[in-house]
Amino acid sequence: MARHDLDVLAQVDPQVYEAIIHEEERQSNHLELIASENWTSKAVRQAVGSVMTDKYAEGYPGHRYYGGCEYMDVVERLAQERVKKLFSAEHANVQPHAGAPANLAVYFTALKPGDRVLGMNLSHGGHLTHGSPVNFSGKLYQVESYGVDRETERLDMDQVREIAKAFQPHMIVAGASAYPRILDFKAFRDIANEVGALLMVDMAHIAGLVAAGLHPSPVGFADFVTSTTHKTLRGPRGGFILTNEAWGKKIDKTIFPGLQGGPLMNLIAGKAVAFGEALTPSFRQYQVQVVENAHRLAQQLMDRGLRLVSGGTDNHLMLVDTKHSGITGLEAQERLAQVGITVNKNTIPFETEKPTVTSGIRLGTPQITTRGFKAEQIDALADIIVETIQAPHDFNPEPLRRRVEALAHEFPLPGLDD
Ligand SMILES: *Cc1c(COP(=O)(O)O)cnc(C)c1O
Repeated sequence: MARHDLDVLAQVDPQVYEAIIHEEERQSNHLELIASENWTSKAVRQAVGSVMTDKYAEGYPGHRYYGGCEYMDVVERLAQERVKKLFSAEHANVQPHAGAPANLAVYFTALKPGDRVLGMNLSHGGHLTHGSPVNFSGKLYQVESYGVDRETERLDMDQVREIAKAFQPHMIVAGASAYPRILDFKAFRDIANEVGALLMVDMAHIAGLVAAGLHPSPVGFADFVTSTTHKTLRGPRGGFILTNEAWGKKIDKTIFPGLQGGPLMNLIAGKAVAFGEALTPSFRQYQVQVVENAHRLAQQLMDRGLRLVSGGTDNHLMLVDTKHSGITGLEAQERLAQVGITVNKNTIPFETEKPTVTSGIRLGTPQITTRGFKAEQIDALADIIVETIQAPHDFNPEPLRRRVEALAHEFPLPGLDD
């Protein structure tokens, strides 16, 4: 029997219906520790699945290229106003389809091809769009990177300053996908001022923590703040850009007509709902729990003998050096998958393995916290992770898998009652 809210889909396209149901089951039975993923609320999902998906609305509220956009204007203005309030920003563009095009739009607005960009080393936690040679950012611009200190495995702002002085970048990019510590935005601003560079902060991972006041805000320090909406912020897939009024007009022109076509209005409706949720006290409580859970998981893993990059975490994620426990990141990912825990292999600073193998894994607590995990479940999870990583090569995953399933079934997926 088909789930009642998907009954038409089940009739019209059983293949897609089944894939969706299988994915729901996979998410229900597994524990998702991918640091960049989360679950949206049912309200967000209803907005995203609405008729807003059917409308063309090229342009901006009050200035559209199509008729019939009055309700598009309502949702886009709500999204803009709410995200500005959430981060105390002057100007917001909520149309970027995702985080990568948001970054692309800032580069296209503020730089010419061939200009110099200084970003964080990808294998030290940076992002592809911060200057990797396989990405447009590394192909169109001259890039240099800064990384973490070999001893502390944290950013050393004096080293960043030295590199910036030697390289004289037009723009400095701060922000990361796999850095477990607080970023010092004031120090980045000071360095940018010293070398006459613009500063872009990409807060894709930490936006939810910033919204809740649990990580310092880059707004006020950076010329541009870019973000995704679907990571700690717990919205639908998408991106946004915050800036001041003067840059705002230019950013708007770069996004449309410069880069994108029609905005994805169903996702913008979902962003409006998510930004509204993020303004509530319960969202702040949720973020407090995300950070508490990460801190506890990190401590429990270290107490049981695992090595964490930089010795712990200040935010929602951590990097485990699995090589220290005798297995590659790839093998750790595969073993954990066998017991029902989803993680991603991840390069660690001063990596010696190929990116397809790696020496570590990245773990994040946003999703299990959305699901309802607190200290007791974190401790049980830490036990399972350590037993799996330290097991002999020919270990039997069954008993561990049953423990994962028992934990998972205590906490049904949020927003999926039928
Ligand atoms: C995830 C991420 C992005 C890219 O976001 P997409 O929505 O996948 O395009 C950009 N920057 C950072 C730092 C990220 O973590």
